[in-house]
Formats: sequence, C-alpha cells, structure tokens
Amino acid sequence: MARRQYGYVSGNIKSTIMTIEQFINNLGFEINPFQYSNADKEVEYLDSYFIKPDYFEDVWGNPYNPVSNIVYAPRGGGKTAQRIMIEKRAKESKDILAITYTNHDLSEFKKIEDINLHYHLTYLNRLLLVAFFNRINDTSFDFNFTFNFSERQYIYKLARIYLFDTPASFPNQAIQSLKTLEDYAVDLWKGFKEPITNVIKQISKSKGLEVDLSKIEIDKKLELSHKNNTFNIIQLLKKSGYNSIYILVDKVDEQNLTGNNPSASFSLISDLIKDLELLETPNLSFKFFLWDALKPFAVEAARPDRVFSYDLRWTWIQIIEMLSKRSEAYSRGKIKNFESLFENRKSLGRIVLFSELSPRDCVRICNRILSEQFKENPNSLKFSESVVDRSIEQFCREKAQELIVNATNLKHLTKTNSVSFTIEELVAAKVAADSPAIRNIINPWTTAGYLKKIGLVERKNAKSVNEYAYQDIRLAFMATPTLSLDQFIKEKVRRCKTDTCKTFYYRDFDRKPYDCPECNTENE
Ligand SMILES: [Zn+2]
Repeated sequence: MARRQYGYVSGNIKSTIMTIEQFINNLGFEINPFQYSNADKEVEYLDSYFIKPDYFEDVWGNPYNPVSNIVYAPRGGGKTAQRIMIEKRAKESKDILAITYTNHDLSEFKKIEDINLHYHLTYLNRLLLVAFFNRINDTSFDFNFTFNFSERQYIYKLARIYLFDTPASFPNQAIQSLKTLEDYAVDLWKGFKEPITNVIKQISKSKGLEVDLSKIEIDKKLELSHKNNTFNIIQLLKKSGYNSIYILVDKVDEQNLTGNNPSASFSLISDLIKDLELLETPNLSFKFFLWDALKPFAVEAARPDRVFSYDLRWTWIQIIEMLSKRSEAYSRGKIKNFESLFENRKSLGRIVLFSELSPRDCVRICNRILSEQFKENPNSLKFSESVVDRSIEQFCREKAQELIVNATNLKHLTKTNSVSFTIEELVAAKVAADSPAIRNIINPWTTAGYLKKIGLVERKNAKSVNEYAYQDIRLAFMATPTLSLDQFIKEKVRRCKTDTCKTFYYRDFDRKPYDCPECNTENE
C-alpha cells in the first residue's frame, strides 16, 4: 500500500511533507500508543503494560472458593483494565466462566430508582443460560447422561422463561457479556442473528429430542422465582463443568440514566450489592469495579464486613512505569524509557502532575503532545518543552469544561484568580456581589469535591471564616488565568517534603505558607 504523502491536514503548511503516521514511526512507535484512552479498545496490548495493583490477587481470589468484592477507583483510574485482566485470566481455565455485566438496556425504566433485583436476575439468568447452552452444545458433552429427565425438563422451562422472549438489545448484550467464551460460541449463535429459540431447537435435536420452546408450558410460580432460578442455573452450570462463575460488574456510571451522578449510579446496582444471599452463593462471585464516588453510598447500604473492598490508587512511580511499559509495547521494545522522548525531563513530571495520577488523563495529555509536536516540528525526535506546556494548558481547558459543564459557572471559576480563598475575599475581588451569591457559585464545586474547606482564617474584630482551596490542579490552573504554566507551578503548587508523604497540594503560596494537609509539615 502506498503511503500517503500529503494526507494529513493540520492547517500547518510545514507538516505537508510528512504524515502523522510517519512522524510516529520516526519516534520509534509502530502505531500511536496514545490513540485510545479506554482499555476496551486495547485488549491486545493490555497484557504488556498492565501494572498489577497489590491487591489484584485478592480480587481474583481462590476461584474454587470464590468471594464477592468491590474495587473502587477514580474515573480513568484503570478499573476496566483490571476487569479485562480478570476476564483474560478466567479464559485460561476451562472450568471458570466469566460474565461481563456492563451493557444495560434501561429503556423500560423511567427513572433509575425503579431498577430492582428482578431486573438484574432476569438479565443475569438470561446470560447464564446462554453460557449453559453453549457449554452443552459441545458434541462430546453427554447431555442425557449428565442430566436426568426432570432436570432436562426444568432446563427447557428455564429457556422458555428467559430466552423465548428476549428484548431486541439482548443479542448484542450477550456478545459483549460472554466474549470470554471460546470463539466457537460466536459461530454457534451465528453472531446471534439466528433467533435463540431456533438455536435451542438445533441443540436439543442434536441431543436426541427436538424442543420447541413455544410449546413448553411453565407455571407462574417458576416464572417469578428468579433468585431460585439463579441458584439452580449455577448448579446446572456446575454439572456442566463450570466450577466457578465470576460476574464482573463495570461501567455502572456510564449508562444513560446514571451519567455523572454518583447517587444515580449507585441506584443501578444497589439491590444487587445489598443482597448477601446472592453475593455469597457457592461457586458464584461478583466483582464490582466502581467509581470511587460511589463508595459513601455503598458503605452505607452494603455490608463492608462481608463484602471486602479495595481502593485503586496510583503512585507517581507506577504512572511513570505504566507510560514506559506502554511505549515499550507500542514500539516493540525500542523505547523502554518514556522519559527519553522529552527534551527536558521535567516535562514528564508535569504530565503526571496534571493528570492528577489518572492513567487515562496521562494518555490524553500524551496524545495531545504527539499531535502538537507534529504540527510544530515533525522532524523533531523529541517533544519540546514548549509543546508539552502548551498541550497541558489545552488539556486543562478541556478537562475544566468536562468537570464544570455549566459555562457561566466555569467563567466564575476563572474570575476567582486565586487557588485558596475565603468567601469574603471573593466578594472583595468582585467575583459576585455578596456572600450568598458566592456561596451559590461555589456550592456545586464543594459538593463535587473540586473545592474543599482547608481551615479557618482569623480576622481582627470579626469572627473567623472558612478558607477554601481547589483540589484539582486543572481547575486550580484555570482559576489563575493570568499565570503562565511556569509561574503557576512556582507560586501555587507544593509537594510535601516529608519522604513518607509527598502529597501535592495547591494554595496561594505566594501570599502565605500552608502546611501539608496530610501530615501538617510546613512547606515553604
Ligand atoms: Zn505531608
């Protein structure tokens, strides 16, 4: 295939002699390592740059005596990467079934609070049964020997309840959820284009008795006992050779009714996470990969003493390691040290700092640097300091718009012109007319955790007032529009000097010193 010589249009005349693909190849990469910031798109490469958190083995646990647990992580913190690594590991054992529970069709619900256990069990039973039929379809599987007559009748009754009348969205959901099954599963269901009832007719025929699901009679009681049916399906799966079943719950906050709202997101799974009887079913375990904003709700409603949880927090060193491993994977071993791509080594530190230790945000910043460097000087084999700084500034602007969706409210942020302040100071700076107006502006920021009370400021002849500081460096940077990136870092950012702490915090250090919020060390 001929290479495109003039293909990439960037609006910059200099770049017309080289394509961005060539630029990326010249740097040493096979393809752009920062093209995707979502683990779902990188399943192939994930093994090579996955960094196992300390607790990873605990989450995997003993598959033959599995327990349910929860992993909390910030958005972009690598939940999906962990889920995929569990899926991959399950795939190595023929007797472990992993079902990915991520694609919800909530069209029948008006509001998120209406979602109940009935919904989850119906959906899960559907998926478990598809996995079951896939399993018994194997020609070497002796169906009539493994299951007695009444079990076989029960199996077809379950199929009638859960698979006869499925929503239009189900085939796609099933493909997404059961992708860990052997590849022939897709053949078998012909990508689920064939109605499942026909497939079951074929399977049952091959097992000696053709079954037409539409003729199967079921009683109301059986139809309504979803939980008992779940327990029984687990037993059937066990008899068919699955000794362990993992249900991997992910993307709870990415559904149309849950969005950015922690409380709504928790509503989606609250009935599931509260049901200890289900969570402690032998041979079955649930692994919840949750946005950490759901933690307060889960701690209150679920049973932390019975369902253990783990927090995914990245350290500075782990992030750098992840970036280097990623470069190595995408360059087939050529670039082992990501830092070597930078003209100035402090640029890499800045990327990590402005990612707030989120792998996804690091990848987003790096992707921007690639395209900015290409625009500025595609002949360079390193990223220049000014390109990195500019990319970080652009990223902050983009991130601030995502965090504060309301444009007027975001404008107020840029008017604060400081990183730590009291409400009275903002009134004096004319951000708004009076204290109540300022409170209205900053309330959503404190609720979302972008702004935090950091202490009291004493005043002469008046009572002390609260002092606030931004918790997110991207917002802190946007709040000081008159400063360059260099000035901002010099005046507003400190890293605690205590070796065991090393916390970053953002304050108006140019006005006065502030102690470390974690260990109270004074940092000049
Ligand atoms: Zn400290």
